[in-house]
Parts: sequence; structure tokens; C-alpha cells
Amino acid sequence: MFKKFYPDYRFRTVDDIPDGFFTDNNIKYAVLDIDNTLVPYTAAAPDERALRFLKRLEGLGIGYCFVSNNHADRVEQFCAGLSIFYISKARKPFRGGIYRAMRHMGAARNNTVLIGDQVFTDIYSANRAGILSVMVDPIEAKETPFFGFKRAMEKIVLRNYRNGSEYNAGN
Ligand SMILES: [Mg+2]
Repeated sequence: MFKKFYPDYRFRTVDDIPDGFFTDNNIKYAVLDIDNTLVPYTAAAPDERALRFLKRLEGLGIGYCFVSNNHADRVEQFCAGLSIFYISKARKPFRGGIYRAMRHMGAARNNTVLIGDQVFTDIYSANRAGILSVMVDPIEAKETPFFGFKRAMEKIVLRNYRNGSEYNAGN
């Protein structure tokens, strides 16, 4: 019953996704969440880790863009130093933003991955769009009652999570 919320794979952080994950899954395009996936909510611009990861994607020949539910100002500011396509106010779990991003990149379902930190927005939207879904642990917990509630609900879903597993390169 929770299957539509299950990520295909889980990693602790984007740094823990091995190069082989992308090549083994024939990934050529990545749809990236920003907040708590690449940087903390409080980071106005890409930090060292984010830049390192983006550089790694480029080295692997993977095209990417950002699809964020956050408002235009935040996303625009985050992307200011990068010449990368982005969509703000994407309204994940609706698929529209993801499809727009994929069309822009010329991506296909079977060569695209979404990387995000939230089950009910990121992962659900990727699963509905029919692309590979990767969940990372949120970089920092945002201490609001609603956020806590969402995380509690995610825990219930993920407790039932059996299909996906930590990726073991070469095993
Ligand atoms: Mg996020």
C-alpha cells in the first residue's frame, strides 16, 4: 500500500552515491531537489559539498537541473552562480515540474534519476513520473511541528520499505 512512496534506492548523502550507481543504471540525467538534499535550507548558495557533487555529475557526463518546491527567490538565488536550468514552485508530488525539466534536458524515463530527501514530495513525484528515485537523509531537520509530523509519517512508510536497499557497488 505504501509502495508508491518507496524510493528505489537510499543513501545517507549525495556523496555516498557511488559513480557506479549512475553507470550501472544507465543514468544520463538527474533531477535534483535542493533543500536538505544538496544544501541545508539556510544555505543561500551551493556549498562545497553541493559543488563537488555537481562536478562529479558533470564528470560522469550526466546532465542535471533543479526542481524545487521552494519559492522563486530562493531557487533563483541558489542558482545565480550556475548556468543550470531550474524550476521553482514545482509543486511536487505533481509530476508537471519533473516532466518540464526532463523535456528541457531531452531526458527519457529510463535514463533519469530524481534525488531528493522527502518521501511525499520528491520520491512520490519520481515514482509517479516513472523515473528512478533516490532518497538521501535530510541534511538538517527543520524543527517545526508540521515538519516533525511529515517525518513521523515518512518513518511509518519507510518501516514498511523492503524493495529498495542500500546500493552495494559490485555486490
Ligand atoms: Mg528537500
